Amino acid sequence: YQYDDQNIFAKILRGEIPNKTVLETDHSLAFHDIQPAKPVHVLVIPKVRWVSMRDMAAADAAAAGRFMAGISLTARELGLEDDGYRVVFNTGRDALQTVEYLHAHILAGRKLGWPPG
Ligand code: AMP
Repeated sequence: YQYDDQNIFAKILRGEIPNKTVLETDHSLAFHDIQPAKPVHVLVIPKVRWVSMRDMAAADAAAAGRFMAGISLTARELGLEDDGYRVVFNTGRDALQTVEYLHAHILAGRKLGWPPG
């Protein structure tokens, strides 16, 4: 369990791999998921070296708050505030976290089932 500069989202943040940006702030970058699972599927990543929730919890609370604000601002940018949206953090093996760089999935665009599959 260690942050890797070569992971795909680190490369996206550095501009080495293209992305379809929704919103970039000083603290986060939001871009469309390459394989959308819902009509709206956007990823939000913080501009810090966090692999997962564990690192966010260990960091200064203000940094975590700025990242959370980035998620909310992205949802607003996408026009989702009225109809709503779901935010998912896949963490670790059982949740099928495939990219070891903390990311929030924003899912929306239709009625989502609950509980999730
Ligand atoms: P997770 O399973 O939570 O780790 O989700 C990783 C997500 O990243 C998946 O939904 C992938 O479709 C998405 N993804 C992987 N590579 C890219 C990429 N280059 N650009 C945009 N999304 C990507």
